[in-house]
Amino acid sequence: MAKEPFSIPESEWKAVFDEALEYFRNLLRFDTTNPPGNEREACEYLGKILEKEKIGFEILESAPGRANLVSRLRGDGSLPPLLLNAHLDVVPAEKTYWTHDPFGAVVEDGFLWGRGALDMKHMAVMSMMSLILLRRHEAGLKRDLIFAAVADEETGGRLGSGWLADHHPDKVRAEYALGEIGGFSRIANGKTFYPVQIAEKGICWLRLKAKGTPGHGSLPNWEGAVGKIGKAAHRLGSERLPFHCTPQAAVFIETMAAHQPFPKGLVLRQALNRHLSQWILDKVVPDKGLARMLYATLHNTANPTILRAGEKVNVLPSEAVLQVDGRVLPGQTQEDFLREVQGVIGDGYEIEVLEFQSATSAPPDDPILRAMADILGRHDPSAVVVPNMVPGFTDAKHYSRLGTRCFGFSPVKLPEGFSFIDLMHGHDERIPVEGFFFGIRVLFDLVAHLCTGG
Ligand SMILES: [Zn+2]
Repeated sequence: MAKEPFSIPESEWKAVFDEALEYFRNLLRFDTTNPPGNEREACEYLGKILEKEKIGFEILESAPGRANLVSRLRGDGSLPPLLLNAHLDVVPAEKTYWTHDPFGAVVEDGFLWGRGALDMKHMAVMSMMSLILLRRHEAGLKRDLIFAAVADEETGGRLGSGWLADHHPDKVRAEYALGEIGGFSRIANGKTFYPVQIAEKGICWLRLKAKGTPGHGSLPNWEGAVGKIGKAAHRLGSERLPFHCTPQAAVFIETMAAHQPFPKGLVLRQALNRHLSQWILDKVVPDKGLARMLYATLHNTANPTILRAGEKVNVLPSEAVLQVDGRVLPGQTQEDFLREVQGVIGDGYEIEVLEFQSATSAPPDDPILRAMADILGRHDPSAVVVPNMVPGFTDAKHYSRLGTRCFGFSPVKLPEGFSFIDLMHGHDERIPVEGFFFGIRVLFDLVAHLCTGG
């Protein structure tokens, strides 16, 4: 018979919530704006709490003031570890546009306001509470439970998860990692959707160079470098790269479509049809933001972002340079991407790859998704888990290098009409206090299931 996972008596949760809220507010008060980050003090604060609970941890400094906390509860080793990850750095906040001080941790009208409330100090506290509760109750674990509170995610994670993966891989290597981006509810058609990140696109940043005949600006020149590079920029900015249907995109769109009323679901499913996809996204999907997001999950993209040429108005430069922010789908190589870019811009350019990192992806049928759905369903009967792909990148990029299967799951129940995406780097970032409490329980139940069930 399967063993019931460890659980906490109902009567204890209220005190747990109060305790967690206090930790969360204190954590939000550390200004960890990156740059410069300065995550060290926030790490030390978490360390003090763990120390009080007699939970072992280390603070590992990757650069002056840039610190990562790694803590571990030991299991019996019958299963490989589970990692809970949260980055402690936050993006800058323009204080004048905020209703409350972004580092004031004000609670008002049921919300806790602050930079990092959703992205993602809430997950740091939720994760830490999972460790604390399992430790206090001396629950026997089948696997090690690791908690990493890391620096520098917002500028690429080189001093955070990337540094840990490079310099201390044994401290963070796990079978599963839970982190961002996912678990935030979105209500539509009477259902509550919980997207869970199962994949994120890779990057391929390029520098294109066009050479031309230099000369005086007073004479016509049909072979100018600026004209050539302009042509490449125009093409990349207006033409589309080929359609690719990955298993990750398919499961996302199929799941969304299955929960739409007729005929919306039928129409949405056609986004997976290579012949109809373009037309559906351009003409039929009414929400342009959604259409762009769907487009990004079905294509590599190549956005021209930096253009440089010339020094003087009357001198034709001999070369012009364009930088391109390329994002690649799971399964696509650097060569695949370059071939597609070449197909759009044509010949006559020198192409240099500035950085390439392949996409990360976890299997869309991994059993952890079923466990997430079951547990969410217990706390929110209208919950629908939607495995999805994120066009940007997170710490998952670094952990997946260690063979870890990474899932974006830092659950929060949000009120109707509340957009996580608009607030995560926007003004007035805030989290519903009840939604945070909901997240603590859901995450704890999942962690207990993975570490003590069986
Ligand atoms: Zn984040």
